Amino acid sequence: MKSTITNLFCPSCNKEYKHTILINLCECGLPLLVNYDLEKAKTTLTKESLPHRQNSMWRYTEVLPVLKTENIVTLGEGMTPLQSSVSIGNKYGVNNLYFKDESTNPTGSFKARGLAMAVSKAKELGVKKIIIPTAGNAGSALAAYCARANIKCKVIMPDSTPDAFAIDVIYHGGEVEKVAGSIKDAGVRVHELVENENWFAVSTLKEPYRIEGKKTMGYELAEQLDFVLPDVIIYPTGGGTGLIGMWKAFDEMEQLRWIDSRRPKMVSVQSIGCAPIVKAFNDGTNNAELWENPTTHAAGLRVPGAIGDFLILDAIRKSNGTALAVSEEAISNGTKDMSCLEGIFPAPEGGASLAAFYELVKSEFIKQDDTVVIFNTGSGYKYLDVLKERI
Ligand SMILES: *Cc1c(COP(=O)(O)O)cnc(C)c1O
Repeated sequence: MKSTITNLFCPSCNKEYKHTILINLCECGLPLLVNYDLEKAKTTLTKESLPHRQNSMWRYTEVLPVLKTENIVTLGEGMTPLQSSVSIGNKYGVNNLYFKDESTNPTGSFKARGLAMAVSKAKELGVKKIIIPTAGNAGSALAAYCARANIKCKVIMPDSTPDAFAIDVIYHGGEVEKVAGSIKDAGVRVHELVENENWFAVSTLKEPYRIEGKKTMGYELAEQLDFVLPDVIIYPTGGGTGLIGMWKAFDEMEQLRWIDSRRPKMVSVQSIGCAPIVKAFNDGTNNAELWENPTTHAAGLRVPGAIGDFLILDAIRKSNGTALAVSEEAISNGTKDMSCLEGIFPAPEGGASLAAFYELVKSEFIKQDDTVVIFNTGSGYKYLDVLKERI
């Protein structure tokens, strides 16, 4: 079992790059994605081989970019539970409702998948210091994996970020710098430090490998649902890595002959206080405008501009999905419902997904017989200072 990575490519201008060099973006300024030799991967990465593999996202070795096992930096991320709804599905007449509960990942969110991959690949390529702009969870994850890899780490976050995210970074030996504004402003500061101090930046989609970690959510869903993908996937969207990643995984799995050409309807959820993707979806544009004054207590959704906006919008449209914004109150109610009706204590972003589910049932976008997966992307425990105010 070996990685079958072949090269990097730009889905916008089609330029190709070697995977053996350290690189952030394509020359054209847009995100790079990873290509694999899927014909080769298919010979060992079979459905039948899966039960014998390790119980983490690293089980999909052939379609992951790390070449040498010794470079894998892991805390056991992935293979999170797909919980059947015990209450909400019944109440709303949706018989096959599931929660993909990413809160069980190391460092309390699905950011662990992307950052474990990015740090492993950076280690393989000889990187010594890594920097990241974050709304919270990405910084925690980066710091933990850098601690394991003995790589220096710096995290730039908005000054409004919940306390837990700075505390764990510091415990992991990372440096924290707070800036006024949103993750966009943190990104500007990262750019400055990359120029002046030679850090390697792993900002969302400005580095090709985080998405390869996040795409494993798509592989897992297929596996956990016995290779029949759900009808609807509800995903709280910031930078969109998970949504784009799963969409990529579906194409790869079709080439591996694990699934057919049917795809789930991809639903992107944002907050009314920061909804650039929803606006672009409704306006029918291919790119999203920068959102002015982004506000929401779901910190991971406070992303005013995403470099992969065109990829998110493309996946939503091709899948016959939709995008919708929910209010802060609806997010709170979703967070409470998931906690008290399902026993899952979600991040507010997960609460937003459930709020969107309610809207989609009401509008009849979701039908009674649909298999629906709601993503809870992180743990409520990281947001206690915020949740305390909203009890
Ligand atoms: C980062 C984050 C998101 C948004 O994820 P993207 O894949 O960047 O859109 C959602 N929820 C939580 C808890 C996050 O940390």
